[in-house]
Amino acid sequence: MMKKQPVIAMAILLLAALLSCSPRKESVYRKSMPIMDTIVSITVVCESKEQAEKALKETFAAMDHFAGLINFYSDASELSAINRNAGTSATKVSPETFDVIEQAVFVAGKSGGAFDPTIGPVVKLWDFAGRKMPSGIDVSRALPLVNYRDIILDRKNSSVLLRKKGMLMDLGGIAKGYAADIAAASLKKNGILSGLVAVAGDIRTFGMKPDRTPWSIGIKNPRQTGERDEIIAKVRLTQKAISTSGDYERYFIADGKRYHHILDPETGFSAETCRSVSIVADTAVYTDAFSTAVFVLGPEQGMRLAKEMGFDALIIDGHGTTHITDGLKEKISFEKNT
Ligand code: AMP
Ligand code: MG
Repeated sequence: MMKKQPVIAMAILLLAALLSCSPRKESVYRKSMPIMDTIVSITVVCESKEQAEKALKETFAAMDHFAGLINFYSDASELSAINRNAGTSATKVSPETFDVIEQAVFVAGKSGGAFDPTIGPVVKLWDFAGRKMPSGIDVSRALPLVNYRDIILDRKNSSVLLRKKGMLMDLGGIAKGYAADIAAASLKKNGILSGLVAVAGDIRTFGMKPDRTPWSIGIKNPRQTGERDEIIAKVRLTQKAISTSGDYERYFIADGKRYHHILDPETGFSAETCRSVSIVADTAVYTDAFSTAVFVLGPEQGMRLAKEMGFDALIIDGHGTTHITDGLKEKISFEKNT
C-alpha cells in the first residue's frame, strides 16, 4: 500500500511548480529622495503595495543613516571626526564607516593610488561651481597630505587614524556606490526579489523587470550639445552594478581647457585622458570607486586594471574613441546616431 504522505508531498510540489509557471501579479513601485547631495531613485518589483512601501521606507532610512555617518560637510559625522583627529588620535567608527574606508583603501592599493580617498586637501582647493582653480603652489603644499598609505585601520577596535595633521578623507568617489549596495541589501532583506537602485550615476540592479527582461541603463554622451541628457548606449543588466565617472558632471572651462572634479592624486589637477568611464561589476562600491580609478589611470592602464579585476568597462577617451571589454559587447546597444 502506498503511504499517504509522499502522495501529499508530490501534490504540493506539483502545485508549487504550476504556481511558479503562472504569471504573477507584479507591479513596479518607484520612489525618489534627495540623499548625499543627489537624487536617489529606487524601483522595486513586488506583488504587494504595502510590502513595497515598507521596503522603500526602511531602505531610504538605511541610506540616510549611512549618509549621515560619512557626510564630509557635517561636523556631526564620523568622517568629520576622523578628519578633525588627523595626526592626533584614532577615531572609533561604526561598522559601515570602517567598511567603506577599508574598501576605499583596497581600491587605492589596486589602482596604485589613482583612486585615493585622502584626496580631500586637494579637492578643498577647487571650486567647480565658482569656476575657481587653485594655484600651483597651493596644490604642491596639499599633495604631501594625499597618501592612502597614511590611513591606519584598526579592525579590532573599529578605529581609523589619518597619520598626518591636515589630512582629509573624502569618500565622494566611493560612498554613493556603497549606499547603493546598502539599499540592495535592505530591499532583499525586505523580501524584494527585483529592483534597481540609482544613486545618481551609481546603479545596482537585481532580478529582472516584470516582463522578465533585464534592466536597461543609459550611458550619457559626455559631449552632448543640448541641455537634455543624450544617451549614446544602453546596457542590459541583472544582478550587476554599473557606475559612470565623467568629466561632464562637475566642471568649468577656462582658456579652452576643461577642469573637472576627478583629480589625479599625482598632480592635484583634473585627470585628462578620459571623458567617461563606465564599469560593470557585482557591487556598486566597486563600480563607483573603480570607475574613478580607471578614469584617472587613462584608457590603456585603466582597461588593464578593469580586466585584471574581471570587470566590464566602457571607456570614452579624450579623443572620443570608445574602448570596450568583450564581455560588455553582448550587453550593450549603441544608439543609431553615435
Ligand atoms: P566620481 O564621480 O565617483 O568619479 O567621484 C568623484 C568624486 O570623488 C570627486 O567629487 C571627489 O570628491 C572625489 N575624487 C576626486 N578625485 C579622486 C581620486 N583620484 N580618488 C578618489 N576620490 C576622488
Ligand atoms: Mg566613483
